[in-house]
Amino acid sequence: MKKLTLLSLGILCITNCTDLPVFDQQQIRAQISLEETQSILYTLASDDMKGRDSNSGGYFKAADFVTNYFKEHGVEPFYPAYRDSLTTEGVLSYNIVGRIGNYDPNQKTVLIGAHLDHIGIQKIEGDSIFNGANDNAAGSTAVMQIARFLAKHNWKQNIIVALFTDEEKGLKGAYHLAKRMKKERVRLDYMVNFEMIGTTLSTGENQVYLTGYKRSNMAEEMNTISAGFVQFLPQARELNLFKRSDNYAFYETFEIPAQTLSSFDFKNFDFYHKAGDEAEKLHLENMNLIIGTSAFTLAKLLQGETKIKQF
Ligand SMILES: [Zn+2]
Repeated sequence: MKKLTLLSLGILCITNCTDLPVFDQQQIRAQISLEETQSILYTLASDDMKGRDSNSGGYFKAADFVTNYFKEHGVEPFYPAYRDSLTTEGVLSYNIVGRIGNYDPNQKTVLIGAHLDHIGIQKIEGDSIFNGANDNAAGSTAVMQIARFLAKHNWKQNIIVALFTDEEKGLKGAYHLAKRMKKERVRLDYMVNFEMIGTTLSTGENQVYLTGYKRSNMAEEMNTISAGFVQFLPQARELNLFKRSDNYAFYETFEIPAQTLSSFDFKNFDFYHKAGDEAEKLHLENMNLIIGTSAFTLAKLLQGETKIKQF
């Protein structure tokens, strides 16, 4: 059936004739539609989700939405019911952890993640729901759509996808998962994290920057596949953004390349951790371009079994 489907799409395998097609950027883009990007983003950033904090309870509504999306699109649970549970500040919450295909401990493993939580409802005048559209409904949308696309194919490498809880409380969810995977001897080769990709980088459209740019060959390998996609942002180094998102938990725990792709450059968005971080403020078309390019780039990295190594 699989071969037939590929043939009917006019895609033929070349090297070793695996089930993987020759990935085409335009075809992948067509599978990641603006409508779906918009629909996921607006759902996660709606007032219904109460700022996606475990204290407000909104996080669990968002987590259900992600879990159902994974189920619907062939992303399997990595842990029972997709849940990796932890207690932060007395509140029980969980990361959502899925896998693409089966986990084979003899194969390389990549983790693709983003934090789903935000800072909930704050005691301020007026609009008190902090929707966190850019931070980080945007990155969560990217991981969900990339997972859906990757789940359409059979990969030799292991792919784990994770949406983290309690990032805003100090990367708690990511540290919990990293330590658990380490303890369980889950193999991990590198990690790619998505954070605030909802606005257009000042250097141009369809671009992101990578935190810890010079720590590995990740940027170089990604740019070999998608020229000019991954930029170096001087402020990312000055402010040590490498340590300020979930990638850092995996870097510390596994000592592997674990880095964040972002398009928030401090000039292109005025609502960081403000009530005004709402879906209407984001550059949806550019965000959709970034997700499409990321899906293509990751597919090529995985297909080529590119070695991502630390410097
Ligand atoms: Zn964030």
